Amino acid sequence: MEEMPARRRLVLVPAPAQGHISPMMQLEKDLHLKGFSITIAQTKFSYFSPTDDFTDFQFVTIPESLPESDQKNLGPVLFMLKLNKECQVSFKDFLGQLLLQQSNDISCVIYDEFMYFAEAAAKEFKLPNVIFCTTSATAFVCRSVFDKLYANNVLAPLKEQQDELVPELYPLRYKDFPVSRFSSLESIMEMYRNTIDKRTASCVIINTASYLESSSLSCLQQQKLKIPVYPIGPLHMVATASTSLLKENKSCIEWLNKQNVNSVIYISLGSLALVDINEVMEMAWGLAASNQQFLWVIRPGSIRGSEWIETLSEEFSKMVSDRGYIVKWAPQKEVLAHPAVGGFWSHCGWNSTLESLGEGIPMICRPFSGDQKVNARYMECVWRIGIQVEGELEKGAVERAVKWLMEDEEGEEMRKRAVTLKEKLTASVRSGGSSHNSLEEFAHFMRTL
Ligand code: UDP
Repeated sequence: MEEMPARRRLVLVPAPAQGHISPMMQLEKDLHLKGFSITIAQTKFSYFSPTDDFTDFQFVTIPESLPESDQKNLGPVLFMLKLNKECQVSFKDFLGQLLLQQSNDISCVIYDEFMYFAEAAAKEFKLPNVIFCTTSATAFVCRSVFDKLYANNVLAPLKEQQDELVPELYPLRYKDFPVSRFSSLESIMEMYRNTIDKRTASCVIINTASYLESSSLSCLQQQKLKIPVYPIGPLHMVATASTSLLKENKSCIEWLNKQNVNSVIYISLGSLALVDINEVMEMAWGLAASNQQFLWVIRPGSIRGSEWIETLSEEFSKMVSDRGYIVKWAPQKEVLAHPAVGGFWSHCGWNSTLESLGEGIPMICRPFSGDQKVNARYMECVWRIGIQVEGELEKGAVERAVKWLMEDEEGEEMRKRAVTLKEKLTASVRSGGSSHNSLEEFAHFMRTL
């Protein structure tokens, strides 16, 4: 019998947010099945506590001394800049100790694109390193094009350019640029410049499928990065494991079981977005007028000025009890896979986008910040399985969008296209499919390091 080769240890560094932790944990699960030993190095922020799915994995905490409140108070861009600076030195010492503990048996460091401090430590110990892009390939390209525009001062009149198409980035417009209204353009560009710098990386892996983003992927591979780029996703279709940081309320599945096929619109704005109370009320009235059943995730603290939904009116509660169901956090993948769900009102985070694509569910897109606008534009104009609601939210627009998606012929056409896309994605992660092959090639590459 052929002797099993010794397991090689990989150190993986996820970024501290649900949307980054999930794909990293799914990747770990698959690499572990492929014969690698795994160490997960996290900071104390948004710490993923090991579940039964990860019993053979080593979890370690990178030392740093940032105040707990920074994650909430600084906003994502400044927080990540600060975290990277803070961990730049501490991770080197830490990796040195890990190497001692593991008798130098670490073959590679794989880090989330937003945890670029890890590269310096890998380089110090002459360890190969790999960038894991947990956003889309297009978001990566977009960051590098905007870096160039910013450097050439072409972004100065950004306000007047809002609706214009960006050369090189069709069909993205200037207003789809991944910015956050809570951070200055300078700090955003500093962050982005760091995430697109390949430094000494041996390759880049991306949670996407070649079918979804072929032109962005070839642009990265041939022009921007010039190192191997492996599209290995959607990873949630490759590895099943519970990766939620919050407790999922499964009672909504029982509620869905009582609804008709394709009759429910699922509403979730991800793990970070904050909304104004007015916007929530416009959504509620629009939903009421649309006469559709809905399942709505409202995270505690996600409505500005409210702990949860206690400040919303009695009319709101009545409307919900008539035709809707509200939870604080849902088992989203299970929800999207449920036959009763016919549409998804989403902020278009990359994971939510992939999860919707993977289940053939069309979307109403209401992006907030970061790469969400890029994803929304692709849903609407490239894959043509979403409609975007732009501008100030108003109940009439909500009602029209929901009816359009759930009742109209155009919505039905979108649903058919979404199902075709789901079939293509399912084939891509099966044996012989493009993402499956890419993941195999990547694992092979890891074994050669
Ligand atoms: N999610 C979930 N339950 C919810 C809402 C969201 O499990 O009630 C998960 C969702 O499945 C996705 C992640 O949270 O995997 C959100 O990531 P995404 O990239 O979509 O958005 P972000 O939270 O980063 O804005």
